[in-house]
Amino acid sequence: MTQRTDVVVVGGGQAGLAAGYHLRRQGLDFVILDADASPGGSWQHMWDSLHLFSPAEHSSLPGRLMPAQAGETYPDAGHVVDYLADYEKRYELPVQHGDRVGAVRRDAARLLVEADSGTWRARAVISATGTWTRPFLPTVPGRGLFTGRQLHTVNYRSPADFADQHVIVVGGGNSGAQIAADLALDGKVHVTWATQRPPRFLSDDIDGRALFDVATARRRALDAGHTDTGGVASLGDIVAVPPVRAARNAGLLTAKPMFAQLTVSSVQWDDGSYAGADAVIWCTGFRPALSHLAPLHLRGPRGHIPTDGTRALGEPRLHLLGYGDWTGPASATLIGAGRPARDAAGEIAHLLHS
Ligand code: FAD
Repeated sequence: MTQRTDVVVVGGGQAGLAAGYHLRRQGLDFVILDADASPGGSWQHMWDSLHLFSPAEHSSLPGRLMPAQAGETYPDAGHVVDYLADYEKRYELPVQHGDRVGAVRRDAARLLVEADSGTWRARAVISATGTWTRPFLPTVPGRGLFTGRQLHTVNYRSPADFADQHVIVVGGGNSGAQIAADLALDGKVHVTWATQRPPRFLSDDIDGRALFDVATARRRALDAGHTDTGGVASLGDIVAVPPVRAARNAGLLTAKPMFAQLTVSSVQWDDGSYAGADAVIWCTGFRPALSHLAPLHLRGPRGHIPTDGTRALGEPRLHLLGYGDWTGPASATLIGAGRPARDAAGEIAHLLHS
């Protein structure tokens, strides 16, 4: 079955919904195709104790403030899922859940979007597929030998799954610090935290609000031709959210250097020391989920697609939203999703009306 529309948005997480909000304001006909069976994007898959690093009112999509969560300054992931589900309904966004896009191809004046629901002929496409479905695992000697459990951030749920076990948490970013803190504070799990370089905690008074401001200021400075100050990365890697702060202050969050190899049942450092392990949790990041765009042959260095703002340099009918700072300052955060979505919808409206 082939259907026609002005714009197909691929992905119905926060970035896709923000796109829908602005496409509607531009008066364009569009559909949002989302692989997940229910609303909420990747928030519905995150671990049980995860809380946002910003208060609700600083975690909002365009048009509607996120309501506060009773008893929580920093809302949990379930609250974000409820907010996104409500957002989708309130703005009557045409989201088709359980509809995965396999490929986007060029076909003369249209882009062909091949989805579970059939083929869509679109005049423009916004890709907003996030990174959650492309977990990254580093190559470490012996990874294939280890007979314990190996998980990535995406598979972690709660400390209850590791009672009385020795767990190695790998990674010095926010996920690594938060999961190590979650396990350590539980008291029933023996945790070793391994990081490639010593962990860099942001100062305790910095949360997502400040990060957004810093990311925006950096983009403005770069656009004005000033030298790069390093933006958010210059401040540190780990936001000291309350559980991280509690674990760190209790002395439970001291990192060891990255180990050199895994054996059948342990991890080993270069100096010959080792730690027995029942499980290794790789909190080693993500890559952009862009395989559906492979037929367009647009990929540049580091697996990214080169863009001017959100527009793909090699295909003016394609915009990318979310993913990371390379598609707009803090564009992969709740508060940062709105501005690039507005710009993309505006550019698409201009293109289709010219
Ligand atoms: P996603 O939420 O991943 O949504 C992508 C959607 O696209 C999904 O619904 C998926 O099903 C769909 N999809 C994927 N591939 C296809 C396909 N081929 N066809 C159709 N649909 C497809 N941000 C904050 O603002 N505050 C925070 O506190 C915060 N904490 C975070 C904590 C963690 C552990 C992580 C990983 C991220 C955090 N972020 C935070 C960053 C960011 O807000 C989230 O990653 C957010 O989920 C990104 O939204 P998105 O819409 O870009 O992608």
